[in-house]
Amino acid sequence: MNHFDYRGGVLRCEDVALSAIADAVGTPAYVYSSATLERHYEVFKQAFAPRDILVAFAVKANANIAVINTLARKGAGADTVSQGEIERALKAGVPPQKIIFSGVGKTEQELAFAVQTGVHQINVESVAELETLSRVAWALKMPAPIAIRVNPDVGAGGHEKISTGKGDAKFGVSIEQALALYARAHSDSHLEPKGLAVHIGSQIKQLAPLEAAFRVMRGLVEKLRADGLPVERLDLGGGLGVPYFNEPAPPSPAESAAMVGRVMDGLDIGLAFEPGRMIAGNAGVLISRVIRIQDRPKRPILVLDAGMNDLLRPAMYEAFHDIKPVREPTAPEQAYDVVGPICETGDTFSRDRALPPLEDGDLVAFLTAGAYGAVMASTYNARPLIAEVLVRGSAFEVVRRRWTVDEQMALETIPQWKES
Ligand SMILES: *Cc1c(COP(=O)(O)O)cnc(C)c1O
Repeated sequence: MNHFDYRGGVLRCEDVALSAIADAVGTPAYVYSSATLERHYEVFKQAFAPRDILVAFAVKANANIAVINTLARKGAGADTVSQGEIERALKAGVPPQKIIFSGVGKTEQELAFAVQTGVHQINVESVAELETLSRVAWALKMPAPIAIRVNPDVGAGGHEKISTGKGDAKFGVSIEQALALYARAHSDSHLEPKGLAVHIGSQIKQLAPLEAAFRVMRGLVEKLRADGLPVERLDLGGGLGVPYFNEPAPPSPAESAAMVGRVMDGLDIGLAFEPGRMIAGNAGVLISRVIRIQDRPKRPILVLDAGMNDLLRPAMYEAFHDIKPVREPTAPEQAYDVVGPICETGDTFSRDRALPPLEDGDLVAFLTAGAYGAVMASTYNARPLIAEVLVRGSAFEVVRRRWTVDEQMALETIPQWKES
């Protein structure tokens, strides 16, 4: 469920007309609903009640500090994959003891930063990373709470680029390595092995692969405990899909929680999850204006002022986003190709898309753009970095203003070479 619908002939985010935001802020712009963010967090958290779980929002899905803050106020933690994301989570008000640090490429400096910050846990992805972390913890004379990220050899996800759980993916260690690594960490006085972590992919639309992976994890916990090693926590990752159009609904949080309950039945262990897309996806839209319509023999091309630099998912993952006119349509639909202004053929959002008749200057909204949208935006083609707006009820605020071309150029210099 989300808080974007037509009322009074115009598409709104909560009680704010998207046209009012476009007029005040300009386009293109991302618009997020506080109510949807909060609702998704609560629904997920409550699905597991009375079990108390840590819901660590995957910051890489939407790293805006106002978005993270909206969730942190409700009690959410943060799953982070760089020092920058840890800094964002802290700035947004997430307490260090609710921050998880994941990722295959953590540098020594980033590991030191995480240890000094006192994060909830560092998810170690390889033998080599464990050795580096041990060195860092010894040098700092500080404890490093860790989980071992396991690659359960179960692939899942909406696209091969976002599947992470197959044996040959770059993420995590094998089941055998995990057992050895956990014991190795246990014998290290500065490493605090707390548990295991898993995350097999994103935009997962079936519970079966998740269930298979979670069963592997349970088996590992039991094996470690049988060997006399304490295991307090299981981090079961993120990955639950969201509907991008009229497709079969992905598993609900309730169904997912019921499955987890079945798999973990009777196992006394603390659980954490790292949902990103499921929390933020339907909580955001991208608004854009029609620059002009090019007539073509086959069908007209709708040229928008948003491009692949603002919303990369269609170009990168062949992703589908529903597009709705901001003014409520009354006329029957016709076919368009929908493109952005970037000088690349890849800058095509959709071909042969049925939309109501549109004119120059009309506003459209890309739905389900709250996750993996603004975070992947760039200034390609020297375009201003896109603005972000947060709505609460009838109020809205620019939470990242547009980054102008002058501001971009202010970081650059022309070398004053001596003439030879
Ligand atoms: C990307 C990622 C997530 C979030 O995935 P979603 O599909 O957005 O829920 C969680 N954990 C890790 C380790 C990730 O890399």
